[in-house]
Amino acid sequence: MKRIAVIPGDGIGKEVMDATMHVLEKLNLPFSYSFYEAGDAAQEKYGKALPDETLEACKKSDAVLFGAAGETAADVIVRLRQELNTFANIRPAKALRGIKCLYPGLNIVVVRENTECLYRGFEFEFDGVSEAVRIITRQASERIARYAFELARREGRKKVTALHKANVMKKTCGLFRDVCREIAVEYSDIEFNDYYIDAACMYLVMDPFRFDVIVTTNMFGDIVSDLAAGLVGGLGLAPSANVGEKHAIFEPVHGAAFDIAGKGIANPTAMILTACMMLRHFGYLDEAKKVEEAVERTLESGKVTPDLGGNLTTMEFANEVASLLD
Ligand code: ATP
Repeated sequence: MKRIAVIPGDGIGKEVMDATMHVLEKLNLPFSYSFYEAGDAAQEKYGKALPDETLEACKKSDAVLFGAAGETAADVIVRLRQELNTFANIRPAKALRGIKCLYPGLNIVVVRENTECLYRGFEFEFDGVSEAVRIITRQASERIARYAFELARREGRKKVTALHKANVMKKTCGLFRDVCREIAVEYSDIEFNDYYIDAACMYLVMDPFRFDVIVTTNMFGDIVSDLAAGLVGGLGLAPSANVGEKHAIFEPVHGAAFDIAGKGIANPTAMILTACMMLRHFGYLDEAKKVEEAVERTLESGKVTPDLGGNLTTMEFANEVASLLD
């Protein structure tokens, strides 16, 4: 039995999680789900965005399934990633059947270092000066570079591209770039190159097919993965996984999206595909494929949520997907 700690969180997190649980229930897998609080609402209720009980449960679970956190995201999901040492954030950007997007056929994946860089939280303020400390270590850079190459091999991908800004941040990005180049030598079967992050953003918009696996530092990865999501139809469709040696946290790329929360119109596709990443993580490859197929068939049928031009509610979309799993 796999123990899954479920954190619906804030805003549309609750709505997309309800929809996803409805789909997962159809699979009858040996999973036990326990629900926990975290996020803005928990902050208000307990004075702690990530209550101790939630953190302990996450540490004891086999996986965490996470919806979204609002204003407290840094105290919840960024902290959880660090506490559980989920050092790799995997964010696929795949054009799905039935989606009108900028780049049909695109299938790339962003591997983002998840534990250091500017998101480490070392920020200081003194007398009108604010500063942030950027931490990049050889050890974390090696670990994420190796993860990217192993992922490329596992998924039959051909190329890894490292993104950095080593011409300006000579020490931090310089170390990251050099380590990626060193690790690339161990994987002669996989093509490797590296770009400056700014040029890479232009290439991503104009010619994203030159990428396959992207590996980069924490903040660049955050930005570039949203950009990549935009190439294939937007945040409502983008899943992600945070993976470490012992723990894994599965969360959609999108946040709480308060502008549409409470209306029942959020697209649950990202959350459902996130759950599929969890299924694959536990080795349920057929089940993951079945759900992904059901999602794509539903998208193709045009029965979709308003962000994709349809008029289905979040739960109606989930019902359509679930009905294909019978
Ligand atoms: P964060 O900074 O935590 O990523 P955010 O509130 O800045 O969060 P998101 O919540 O990621 O931004 O969403 C940005 C916009 O994308 C939202 O305002 C919303 O309109 C749209 N959006 C995000 N997720 C979905 C979804 N699942 N369905 C429909 N629209 C979405």
